[in-house]
Amino acid sequence: MNRYCFAWLILFAGTLSLSRAQVPFYGVYKSPDHSVVLNVYQTNEQTCYKVYRKKRLVVDESPLGIETSDGSFYTGLKLRSNIKSRTGRENYSLTVGKKSPIKVKYSEITIPLINYQSKEMDLIFRVSNDGVAYRYKLLGKGDCTVFREYSSFKLPSNAKGYLTPLSRPKSGWARTNPSYEEHYVYDVPVGTPSSIGCGWTFPALFEVPGTSWVMLSETGVDGGYCASHLAEDSHGALYQLEMPGTEDGLYSQSPYPTMSMPASTPWRMMIIGDNPCRIAESTMATDLVKPLYKAKFDVVPGKASWSWLVLKDDSVTYDVSRKFIDMANQLDFKYCLIDAPWDVQIGREGIEKLAAYAKTRNVGLLLWYNSNGNWNDAPQTPKNIMNKPDSRRNEMKWMQRIGIKGIKVDFFGGDKQFFMRYYQDILTDANDYGLTVNFHGTTLPRGWERLFPNFVTCEAVKGMEYITFEQANADLEPSHCATLPFTRNVVGPMDYTPVILNARLGPNRVSGPERRTTAAFELALPVIFFSGIQHFGLIPDNISQFPFCVTDYLRAVPVTWDETHFLSGTPGLDCVVARRSGDKWFVAGINGQNKEKSFKLDLRKLIKPGSEGFAITDNAASRNQVEKVDIVVPGKKLKLEMPVAPYGGFVMMLSEKKH
Ligand code: CA
Repeated sequence: MNRYCFAWLILFAGTLSLSRAQVPFYGVYKSPDHSVVLNVYQTNEQTCYKVYRKKRLVVDESPLGIETSDGSFYTGLKLRSNIKSRTGRENYSLTVGKKSPIKVKYSEITIPLINYQSKEMDLIFRVSNDGVAYRYKLLGKGDCTVFREYSSFKLPSNAKGYLTPLSRPKSGWARTNPSYEEHYVYDVPVGTPSSIGCGWTFPALFEVPGTSWVMLSETGVDGGYCASHLAEDSHGALYQLEMPGTEDGLYSQSPYPTMSMPASTPWRMMIIGDNPCRIAESTMATDLVKPLYKAKFDVVPGKASWSWLVLKDDSVTYDVSRKFIDMANQLDFKYCLIDAPWDVQIGREGIEKLAAYAKTRNVGLLLWYNSNGNWNDAPQTPKNIMNKPDSRRNEMKWMQRIGIKGIKVDFFGGDKQFFMRYYQDILTDANDYGLTVNFHGTTLPRGWERLFPNFVTCEAVKGMEYITFEQANADLEPSHCATLPFTRNVVGPMDYTPVILNARLGPNRVSGPERRTTAAFELALPVIFFSGIQHFGLIPDNISQFPFCVTDYLRAVPVTWDETHFLSGTPGLDCVVARRSGDKWFVAGINGQNKEKSFKLDLRKLIKPGSEGFAITDNAASRNQVEKVDIVVPGKKLKLEMPVAPYGGFVMMLSEKKH
């Protein structure tokens, strides 16, 4: 008997004993390819589920339930009618996508429950080939406030996490936390408390050794609910969903979301795969949601220049901004971002002149705003505009009139429903005025690139700015960058703001933190990371410091993709990805470790023989220079080996041969 048969026997034995001893049993449901299996049942009066993949336990017995002002749905629930199960399929496309179109197949199971007060609730599951999701649908009338979800995920006891702690509300610079800007910690045994004491953020990645990888997250969070996280006390390995506390945002804002019934909670999801590459390719965060409105204008993803990342506040002037507009034009970038404090150092008339100038250079301007308000002390201006509907819409009207293409709104206050409504209000108003939206100092996007078609990207990451602030962050850049494609970036576009090519990271480029990565590592990042607008940390001086192949690549590299395939990688150690846009393939790899490596690329299933192009690779003599290697993908054996330096990388651009 092979070990799979044996595992099946154990599973069936478990199932049989459950159905005898623990009534009622709500059934076993399979993904379309039968690899993922969901069990739902009651035990000790609680509704529980388990998930198996390829016949092995991935998520152990996890209780479910929800406590609301319209009734408690936790213990003693009964079935009120027959369980409904159906299969569904959908094809959809995304303007901001790591692949598009996307084809989805799933089984949907609706378990109609009733509590002891005869209040009704549906527990809804989706089982797809890449995992399981669930949510609650409350079926009463009128408003309903949610006090608690008992939603939980029990990991096997040998699982190890790749996690980021949730920062303490009102902590950090100018009391701007939480903004999902902490480093990841690796190989965390399940049940370990976080270093901060406030729990762990979504997405949370776990390896179940020898079995699977699992990512826990949530999606479909809009103004109808709050954003959640995993509670600090994980009761051994039972991770429970927790809503923000009273101290998040302002005390006057309720920590409890209120919805008009019938109403559904966001989806709680588990992406499951053989390895982190399969997790990274998942589109579950957008598969489970539907657009809330149509874009009223042509949303154009693209690359942007911005002076602030390297040159900081002093650079936000009319003259320097013109140079960055010129650089954007030279590199065929669509956008130039004007950061804080443009209102003081450029002024509104200056911005109008800049926007007119940018238009002559085929560049669109993006403008920065402070989200405040009074939820933190971030002093940067312009502020007190976005937080009031009238001033916000007036400002957007002005932006539309002078040809501004998008906004970046920074320094949000937390995860309560108040802020989810605020994000949604900004997005819907911006849609009326033809503006794309990028959030910084922000929560994690939860299905937003599909829910809100003019949402292009957001931060929610310890991004490149931190690397310019402190050597300790610069030291961690290689491993941090090799973690993000398998964690934060899986569930939504990420405005890390990649590619600094200066060896020193101070505004004068002769002092400040030293960059640890090679130039080829930096140049790989726009392909490694996915963002609807990719804000590059380039300055005009960089262009002449590198061979023409770098400029050719920067002009050509797209920001959204038709296909994405992660070829290899382990969070923190390295990552190799191949992405296609039209007939061009971009293959990139980064080495998160301080030792030489060689990436073996098997492109047989992806790239047509005879495809041609070049690779930008590490330069043996200088870590801040690159080497160009011409490549013709040989017929049949499309296997290549790419050596990389310690903390090095490569990026390859190949065009398919026209037949
Ligand atoms: Ca930030």
